[in-house]
Amino acid sequence: MCALQVNSLASLETIWSKRPLIISGPCSAETPAQVRETAIQLKATGKVDLLRAGIWKPRTKPGLFEGVGKKGLPWLQEARQETGLPVMVEVATAKQVEEALAHQIDVLWIGARTTVNPFSVQEVADALKGVSVPVLIKNPINPDLELWAGAVERVERAGIKQIGLIHRGFSTFGQTPYRNAPLWHLAIEMKLRFSSLLFINDPSHICGRRDLLSDVMQRAIDLDFDGLMIESHINPDQAWSDAAQQVTPQELDAMLRRIIWRSDDSNSSEYHSALDQLRQQINQLDEEVLQLLARRMQVAEQIALYKKENNITILQAGRWQEIMERTLARAEQLKLSRQFITQYLDALHMESIGHQQNILDGNAAG
Ligand code: PEP
Ligand code: MN
Repeated sequence: MCALQVNSLASLETIWSKRPLIISGPCSAETPAQVRETAIQLKATGKVDLLRAGIWKPRTKPGLFEGVGKKGLPWLQEARQETGLPVMVEVATAKQVEEALAHQIDVLWIGARTTVNPFSVQEVADALKGVSVPVLIKNPINPDLELWAGAVERVERAGIKQIGLIHRGFSTFGQTPYRNAPLWHLAIEMKLRFSSLLFINDPSHICGRRDLLSDVMQRAIDLDFDGLMIESHINPDQAWSDAAQQVTPQELDAMLRRIIWRSDDSNSSEYHSALDQLRQQINQLDEEVLQLLARRMQVAEQIALYKKENNITILQAGRWQEIMERTLARAEQLKLSRQFITQYLDALHMESIGHQQNILDGNAAG
């Protein structure tokens, strides 16, 4: 057991610095055979560096599958022995940390539902004191970088040296095609703040559905993430958790083949140019601005329905004046020119009136 541990830790150092680092495995460990078979098939792709599997699954509501618990830990040990893949599990309590370490789990990760709670993160951090194990920290469910940064600091203060970040998207307002909106600009800000940490993208929990995975994987690689964590299952549709987003190891292999890997060569000016990265951010921000504008129009339409019921005019000069004054004052603080914001507000107002007029004319909100 001891020799095995030393071997796997030595190879872990190499794995930690491999680019791109590919983590895969089922959302949840379900049965010994499922863990074993998934590990073997992932190993056979030759592309996977680390095997993930959830043993303890934090679920929003009780009564759903909450993971097999510690009895799954030996399954992972066996999968590691059989394939040589280091293994990682999610931990949310001190007891889970102790149990995972007692079973020589190579890497731990803190899930999005834990990162939101500083008490839980501190409990995990305290259990990590004096231990040498790599820890990956997912972003919190809500788009709050301070919570994410706080979790990193707690784990750092516990003395953990190998820390990584996992970007798995955020719960947000409005509708997006994603289960968790990527909000790439937040991920990029975090990457810039903690530039020495490993930075992994988790397309599975961003997408929530397998048909979107490839695009998000490519975007993450284009944004210079260090690696990807993608959920895989030997029989995805039958998975006990997150069935819609999992893919077979063979599908994963095919998706990884399709990715355009940017050159790691520092002479490759295109990929490494700051301009390229900034343009990606601009595209993403434009997309988010558009979504916000669409959402704003939807709210205006809801207001129009009330106005219609109560026979009130669309144009209410007093209210618009108030919006203008407030926005212009805020724009000045944000160093946006008065001229630009005035034009923007005029255009916004006209569009909003158009949407409201449609409602008053009896056209249903789209
Ligand atoms: C998971 O990785 O299976 C998981 C529960 O993810 P998250 O914490 O991102 O929801
Ligand atoms: Mn999952």
